[in-house]
Amino acid sequence: MAITFWQRLRLGWGKLRRQYLIRFQKDYVERQVRHERMGECLRCGACCKLMFDCFFCTRGLPTGCKIYNVRPVACRFYPIDERDIAERDLLLPNIPCGFYFKPRSKAEERPALFSIFTGKEPTHAEQGGPEVWPDGH
Ligand code: SF4
Ligand code: SF4
Repeated sequence: MAITFWQRLRLGWGKLRRQYLIRFQKDYVERQVRHERMGECLRCGACCKLMFDCFFCTRGLPTGCKIYNVRPVACRFYPIDERDIAERDLLLPNIPCGFYFKPRSKAEERPALFSIFTGKEPTHAEQGGPEVWPDGH
């Protein structure tokens, strides 16, 4: 499905957000993929085409990853929260992602990318969290 320039920009912002979350909000990511995320990957390939078609994505359905065992961390933990699903739906609105998230109460904050500039968030190591993360899809 063709997307607009602004939608493509939004997909790019999503990529930056995931990098930020994985680097600076590891506890949030861990909680999301361990406890809040439900379902399983259906290998629709939409998340391998965000902004651009990944070179390592195989053609046809279901899709595969040519470097699955060494794929980037951002791929392993995708999707991290419902923002990822909403962005991915821009590309493939008629075929839902196999993952979904438990409903979130309004009180629960989602880390925003710009909080990276505040420098107030403790790192995962500083919080004494486990070093081994659950795998994604
Ligand atoms: S994680 Fe979701 S969007 Fe990505 S390939 Fe799996 S089902 Fe498709
Ligand atoms: S999972 Fe593999 S094919 Fe998909 S974006 Fe990551 S590296 Fe590319």
